[in-house]
Amino acid sequence: MSVSKVRAVLFDMDGVLIDAKDWHYEALNEALALFGHKIRRSEHLETYDGLPTKTKLRMLSKERELPEGLHDFINEMKQAYTIDIAWRNCRPTFSHEYALARLASEGYRIAVCSNSVRQSIEMMLSKAALIEHVDLIVSNQDVTRPKPDPEMYSKAVTEFGLNPSECLVVEDNPNGIQAATAAGCHVLVVDDVHEVQYTRIQERIRQIETAGAPQTSENHESPHPALR
Ligand SMILES: [Mg+2]
Repeated sequence: MSVSKVRAVLFDMDGVLIDAKDWHYEALNEALALFGHKIRRSEHLETYDGLPTKTKLRMLSKERELPEGLHDFINEMKQAYTIDIAWRNCRPTFSHEYALARLASEGYRIAVCSNSVRQSIEMMLSKAALIEHVDLIVSNQDVTRPKPDPEMYSKAVTEFGLNPSECLVVEDNPNGIQAATAAGCHVLVVDDVHEVQYTRIQERIRQIETAGAPQTSENHESPHPALR
């Protein structure tokens, strides 16, 4: 197997670059509350996290008799509430600014691939002072199928003119990991935004780039270090 060189880092946004999980949860519940519905926190974490709002609403209609005629309105209200909450809470964090600035200066192409709508992605990346380092944004409006489908990551790989094996995806949840793996990319799995640091990303890149080389004590311990 040839040794692949990593040339691009594709970031998920929520829970990776921006600590927005709670914002999406709160915003959707504010919109659902207008019609007496609610998602519990445990359900959110187990089932709904990382899925686009439209998918969540379809699931709610199937499981809880939420009328489908309300979807568009609830979705619009949810997006408005998300923008409002994020506008008040989103701010730069040193570790993320440093990681992206340094990767960009080292020549890596940088993409953000998120199941969110473009307006939210651009606003949050701007408020977090990250947007200037990002070469490409793929939102759920830019694909026909959101994650867990691989389309979003495949699109970024193609737009960069690279092979999937030259791309490292940074993801925090099962839907995203599934999408990245199906696209054929390498994956760095993180638990939350605090684990997204320049040194961890570089360490994973080094691991990938030495994976085809003879085994050493450093790289033979786990066959799939990303999937822990
Ligand atoms: Mg995420």
